Amino acid sequence: MSGLVRNTTGGAHIEIEGPAQAVTQFLEAMERHPPPRARMTSIRVSERPTLGRKGFHIQPSDAGDTRSALIPADIATCTECLADIAEPRNRRYRYPFTNCTACGPRFSIVEDLPYDRGNTTMRDFIMCSACQAEYDDPRDRRFHAQPNACPQCGPRLSYVGGTRAAAKDHEALVRAAELLRAGGILALKGLGGFHLMVDARDEAAVARLRRRKGREAKPLAIMAPNLAAAEELCSLSSAERHFLCSPEAPIVLLHRHPRASIAHAVAPGNPYLGVMLPYTPLHHLLLGQLNFPVVATSGNRSEEPMCFENEVALVALDGIADGFLLHDRPIARPVDDSIVQVVLDEAMVLRRSRGYVPLPIELPLPASRVLGYGGHLKATISFSLGRNAFISQHLGNLESAESLEAYQQTLGDLPRLYGQPPVRGVCDLHPDYASTRKAEAANDRLFKVQHHVAHVLSVMAEHQLTGPVLGVSWDGSGYGPDGTVWGGEFLAVSGTSYSRVAHLRPFSLPGGEAAVREPRRSALGMLFEVFGSQGLTMAGLPPLTSFEEMDLRVLGRALERGVNTPRTTSCGRLFDGLSSLLGLRQTARFEGEAAMNLEFALPEHEVPDAYPFQLEEEGSGLVLNWEPMLRTMLVDIEGSADRRLMAARIHNTMVAMIVAVVCRRPEDTLILSGGCFQNRYLLAHTVKALRDSGRRVFWNQSTPVNDGGISLGQVMAAALGQAESGAVAHGLVAQPDYVDGASLERRRPLTTVATESGGMPCA
Ligand code: ZN
Ligand code: ZN
Ligand code: FE
Repeated sequence: MSGLVRNTTGGAHIEIEGPAQAVTQFLEAMERHPPPRARMTSIRVSERPTLGRKGFHIQPSDAGDTRSALIPADIATCTECLADIAEPRNRRYRYPFTNCTACGPRFSIVEDLPYDRGNTTMRDFIMCSACQAEYDDPRDRRFHAQPNACPQCGPRLSYVGGTRAAAKDHEALVRAAELLRAGGILALKGLGGFHLMVDARDEAAVARLRRRKGREAKPLAIMAPNLAAAEELCSLSSAERHFLCSPEAPIVLLHRHPRASIAHAVAPGNPYLGVMLPYTPLHHLLLGQLNFPVVATSGNRSEEPMCFENEVALVALDGIADGFLLHDRPIARPVDDSIVQVVLDEAMVLRRSRGYVPLPIELPLPASRVLGYGGHLKATISFSLGRNAFISQHLGNLESAESLEAYQQTLGDLPRLYGQPPVRGVCDLHPDYASTRKAEAANDRLFKVQHHVAHVLSVMAEHQLTGPVLGVSWDGSGYGPDGTVWGGEFLAVSGTSYSRVAHLRPFSLPGGEAAVREPRRSALGMLFEVFGSQGLTMAGLPPLTSFEEMDLRVLGRALERGVNTPRTTSCGRLFDGLSSLLGLRQTARFEGEAAMNLEFALPEHEVPDAYPFQLEEEGSGLVLNWEPMLRTMLVDIEGSADRRLMAARIHNTMVAMIVAVVCRRPEDTLILSGGCFQNRYLLAHTVKALRDSGRRVFWNQSTPVNDGGISLGQVMAAALGQAESGAVAHGLVAQPDYVDGASLERRRPLTTVATESGGMPCA
């Protein structure tokens, strides 16, 4: 056997010649046992006359014009490299930038294609002769490992902070460990950016980090020294263990042991801990020195993008960090840690970033060069080439000038890497999203997709579905084409059009957006909806007593006059209001906190009870009326019923509502998407109930169920449009055939569902 191989921008090109049987065996072996971390999206084989070559050669990369080779994602340190750095006689003993073809930085160092050292931030590190020899030897596991390096020729560590002189290399690591042991806050430059680290067991140190970073209560992720340490803190299923130890090495949300020795301030009132394991040699070496878990949260001030450059970090994190552990390998672009939770033994990637990005999601239909601009919160961008949809790393909330700048940079990043400018843009319907304004400024050929339709489409993209489907989009909020705030929607998607076939009963949000930070305002709106002004005088209700009398009167008047009180069908706001009524949370310290507290209030054991609700007909659609639930709940509150029991009843009612609508619909393929399905109980019980009804159920697994998935849904809309007509059809954005009517009189009850057990299958 002889031949050659070379990297091209379109993929790997291999020529082999030899006896026919050997060639066949080679092809089989390549497909069945590809090299570790290789991802083959397609193989094309063609025959050629033999050339009588001798030996097997690697040819220099060829920079062609059609760029379609995949850019690899960053990979956690492999066991062999770990062994190298632990062995005192190895020349890479304790070297924090050790890597090989099976592990190391990729996307975070790539500046251009093809993926060769000269096109990465390793360009300026000239390999020493020993590294070069490994790089050139096909039998070496560092053969063509682009970031290959050693203490002689590669990146170096440095430490600055405190009054002592700066330190280098191993001494720098020792100083950083000293700082953490003493309860100090360390800014550490890792793979895709900076982490802020602090001893996760140290209550005062964690509180100090929160104060300085301006992060009040949102849970902080921790890095455990190793798997055994993680198992001491949390209980792990085998699926959770698998993802924790995977080469993607995400943060996995794990059930904490009640007595885990972790400071309360890490994740206050939260039964879960976000845990990751060390994923670079630097992390392994540092955590090995410490042998205790550290908080590892992104290096930024709250709501700003993560720092990834030394100079910027030294300024931006000054006043937060007590010391900086830096290195001189530039990061090409910031890549945050990914977040995964396991529900029904399946992963849900809640934040798809390091380790996953920029590997594509395969669309069921091609969409040529479409740029999806995403939403507003947890923003991402998607770019499609044929059937590959590349979703960007997590870009955070587009609420500061800094985040917008990072967003703007990322818009151009993938099209530039692939050398293919987008020909079409797709954005959200919301006129005030920063992403919408960017899209409008940049595109002549732009179309807009309703937010919750995009949620449904993201699942269709991920699971290669082309419809028809019925999508349940339960979410925080999104702009509805009727000018109200949507978020509790049932959307039938077929071909390139959709219709809103059912939704939650709307209520008014006093103060509009302010309700996101004040769940008690949602409660107010719900009480007003059902009881009118009288609802705001009910004695002893937690949301009412939490207000100053004056404020309550002002909000009451606003509701009566309909001033700045937008109507909403949002499931997220409904959960907020219910959480507030239960007395769990009146003001939220981060988005979704109240709804999360409602989930965390669930009892350990299964409770089958549910509250009653009504399914009503309105125009050509259905309305889920939660009034009977609210009324019964108030009776429970008055009778001081167990809050945990009430939380279970609420959840079961929501499941039963979904089942009730689905039973009236012909679609046998169902989709669950939107931020509310981050709620494990709601998701798991809905899936089970729908499966019991004989339906196929899909939800976001490898793409975010929250607004991180919106950009993918937008690209999917373009794919469906192209398939239908050869051009983009606008049906998915046209006015729905069902528009919400505000009049209560027009509704009439279809059924009253007084379920005793949540999520009964269809009769
Ligand atoms: Zn390795
Ligand atoms: Zn070297
Ligand atoms: Fe959303």
